[in-house]
Amino acid sequence: MEAFDPKQIVDCMDALRSDRDRPWSLHEPHFGGNEWQYVRDCIDGGWVSSVGKYVDRLEASLAEYTGAPHAVAVVNGTAALHVCLILANVQRGDEVLVPALTFVATANAVKYCGATPHFVDSSTGTLGIDPERLDAYLRDTALVKGGECFNRGTGARIRALVAMHTFGHPVNIDPLMEVCERYGLCFVEDAAESLGSRYKGRHAGTFADVSALSFNGNKIMTTGGGGAILAKDSAVAKRAKHLTTTARVAHRWSFLHDAVGFNYRMPNINAALGCAQLEQVPRFVEAQRALADRYRQAFAAVSGARVFQEPAFAKSNYWLNVLLLDEASAAYRDEILALSNERGLMTRPVWTLMHRLPMYRECPRMELPTAESLEARLINLPSTPHLVQGDG
Ligand SMILES: *Cc1c(COP(=O)(O)O)cnc(C)c1O
Repeated sequence: MEAFDPKQIVDCMDALRSDRDRPWSLHEPHFGGNEWQYVRDCIDGGWVSSVGKYVDRLEASLAEYTGAPHAVAVVNGTAALHVCLILANVQRGDEVLVPALTFVATANAVKYCGATPHFVDSSTGTLGIDPERLDAYLRDTALVKGGECFNRGTGARIRALVAMHTFGHPVNIDPLMEVCERYGLCFVEDAAESLGSRYKGRHAGTFADVSALSFNGNKIMTTGGGGAILAKDSAVAKRAKHLTTTARVAHRWSFLHDAVGFNYRMPNINAALGCAQLEQVPRFVEAQRALADRYRQAFAAVSGARVFQEPAFAKSNYWLNVLLLDEASAAYRDEILALSNERGLMTRPVWTLMHRLPMYRECPRMELPTAESLEARLINLPSTPHLVQGDG
């Protein structure tokens, strides 16, 4: 084997970018459609906040694009996750299985419900929860009683499992849903990163009863800040709308609320931006996939590292490209990060694993060898397609 060369890795990235004088960001938004027209329409009409047609239109377009029966637009992906967990009946004292390798919002949303995140390991093939290892773990750890699942160690009820599609790559959903069925767990998808991704032909976020999307500024499409809940059932979608709009009972003038609701409604002006962005998502996905191909070619001859490729069952949006260093090259990770960032190539390490964060250190967890290995050797590559050579 040839000697591992961090500089060669950085050169490979650098060769792809269009403009060496401009930083190549991890993921920045692209506004190339009807954004101005729709936002101007909001401002001209005075409909910028809680009244206006764009929220309904965005919800209908999201349902159409994803194939989800219902979509409810909210202020951000974290709020969407919070309400998904409430809809999954997560209660104070419960545990919820979440990957240790995720963005902190997944675990925070569990905490907002007064529940405890219970961390599970990931697979190298998907970067998401490993269904086989989870099943083996639950065989020892879980006790199913009266259709409900309990942690033998803590005595707490394990209510749900949140699967997250890491960097847009779908997890292996079928076996995960089988595990959920076997143990009486409610299946929830954190699809924040996977708008435009498909699993066996079906859009991510349409498998669980409720799923969360994010339209933060760094995601594949943006509303400035925003998110959505996808729901299968119309009664659940109605409840999502009710809870995210202060649980106000419709009346011509009275302020009557029948639950402790949330002010999680997406403002109309953000939804206007979202309508324009969603029109371009099919194009965005193709551009991300083309960039992934370019990376694959660029790194084909490099030894000691490989570009992550979608599993056969998936069609990924490749929101963020991933370079995986071999175990033997992992020690070079920080050198690659430093070299590339110095050159304006905005690479990033993966998130610090959840069980290392101070507020989650004491949470229950299985052994996490794969997540820990991925943490040590995963690098996110600059994935803004409009800054790629020969693209636009
Ligand atoms: C972005 C993201 C969220 C949260 O979305 P916000 O809109 O930023 O609140 C949740 N989970 C994952 C995995 C994310 O990447």
